[in-house]
Amino acid sequence: TRTPVNVTVTGAAGQIGYALLFRIASGQLLGADVPVKLRLLEITPALKAAEGTAMELDDCAFPLLKGIDITDDPNVAFDGTNVALLVGARPRTKGMERGDLLEANGGIFKPQGKAINDHAADDIKVLVVGNPANTNALIAQAAAPDVPADRFTAMTRLDHNRAVTQLAKKTGVAVSEIRKLTIWGNHSATQYPDIFHAEVAGKNAAEVVNDEKWLAEEFIPTVAKRGAAIIEARGASSAASAANAAIDHVYTWVNGTKEGDWTSMGIVSDGSYGVPEGLISSFPVTTKDGKFEIVQGLEINEFSQSRIDVSVNELKEEREAVRALGLI
Ligand code: NDP
Repeated sequence: TRTPVNVTVTGAAGQIGYALLFRIASGQLLGADVPVKLRLLEITPALKAAEGTAMELDDCAFPLLKGIDITDDPNVAFDGTNVALLVGARPRTKGMERGDLLEANGGIFKPQGKAINDHAADDIKVLVVGNPANTNALIAQAAAPDVPADRFTAMTRLDHNRAVTQLAKKTGVAVSEIRKLTIWGNHSATQYPDIFHAEVAGKNAAEVVNDEKWLAEEFIPTVAKRGAAIIEARGASSAASAANAAIDHVYTWVNGTKEGDWTSMGIVSDGSYGVPEGLISSFPVTTKDGKFEIVQGLEINEFSQSRIDVSVNELKEEREAVRALGLI
């Protein structure tokens, strides 16, 4: 029998946490034969709600779930952890400046990064979901100098999945026929969903679509503003689709991308495609044996480059802002 994998989820009592935990416990995060132990981190006032979720997890009698710990102490939550899903974050409230938002989140992600540095297992993999995800990931990574920087990632898989569906709908194919789509940059309204290297049933997507107006005026804004559209329609932010993307991100990281396809992940830049080294930015990546590699050698046209530049510049500004605040 396999040793259980320790999975820590922060913000476990929140909406995304509620949609996420049951799927982790049922084996969808790592595989149907991988036992898991859950560690739920919450702020003190939300511990009781986390206990309620844990009661429901118990009531599912998941065969793979080997234990649940609940704590408000990051040093306990990340002790020996193999996979950390950092979901809890300070949301932007009305009238809040970007500096205030970054500072509030620095107060969360810096100590969590340090606790990961000091206590996590050697094979730790971190996914940051809580926004601003890329920069929160950067803050946590900077606070964990003993952990290889490439273990800290930010989620752009929801953007990726949204883009796959929009392209499939436009071209009238099944989502499984869409390959090699890329989200570049920041998980924010400046993100750039790129179809120039994507394939629709084996043909170049940009050629199949052949409609630059749709690309610029419908596809890109629909993907980038989808979160707001869901709040408008549902009266609450997306939670199940965000949880699903977190599952996809980790599952792909651990179990590999399919031959002839890639995915999008926010990862520490090595300078590829002119993205300054050290920034956590989204790239096309392939994964294998628990490691990822940036897809190299793609030709970036002017249309794409100008959009990538805008998003990468936003990441540079966020990095400058957290530097000025002493958070990295
Ligand atoms: P959600 O579970 O809905 O969202 C959590 C975070 O995920 C937010 O930062 C949210 O960003 C982000 N997010 C990323 N992608 C998406 C997406 N596509 N759709 C929606 N959200 C997305 O928030 P809740 O308020 O329900 O729950 C948060 C929980 O975190 C609370 O229980 C709180 O107590 C806890 N928390 C725990 C901390 C800790 O463990 N130390 C610290 C802070 C909070 P956005 O705000 O932009 O929507």
